[in-house]
Amino acid sequence: MRIYFGVLKMAEKKDEKYIKRMADMLRQGSALTDLSCPVCASPLLRLKDGTLWCAKDEKKVIVVKEGEEQAKVTSAMAMEELQKLSTALSDLLDNLEKIKKMKKS
Ligand SMILES: [Zn+2]
Repeated sequence: MRIYFGVLKMAEKKDEKYIKRMADMLRQGSALTDLSCPVCASPLLRLKDGTLWCAKDEKKVIVVKEGEEQAKVTSAMAMEELQKLSTALSDLLDNLEKIKKMKKS
């Protein structure tokens, strides 16, 4: 009985943490949605940029609408990666240009 009580208390503390985090995000302009996390079933937040966020898992959640193919989600994620990669690449090219100019002068 005592052990069970201890476990319960720990879970409560964890919940408190995520509720506080959620409250912070709401204050920062995120909105509470009627969607729930597929992993932990807690309500999801919609961030200012439209991202769905689980405050409990601290993870981005991608909702697949009925009839929508998984492939679309995968390609959206691939696009994101590609964008990150191209940003990194253009930074690299910028730096290369700077080095070239430095060598010329
Ligand atoms: Zn979750």
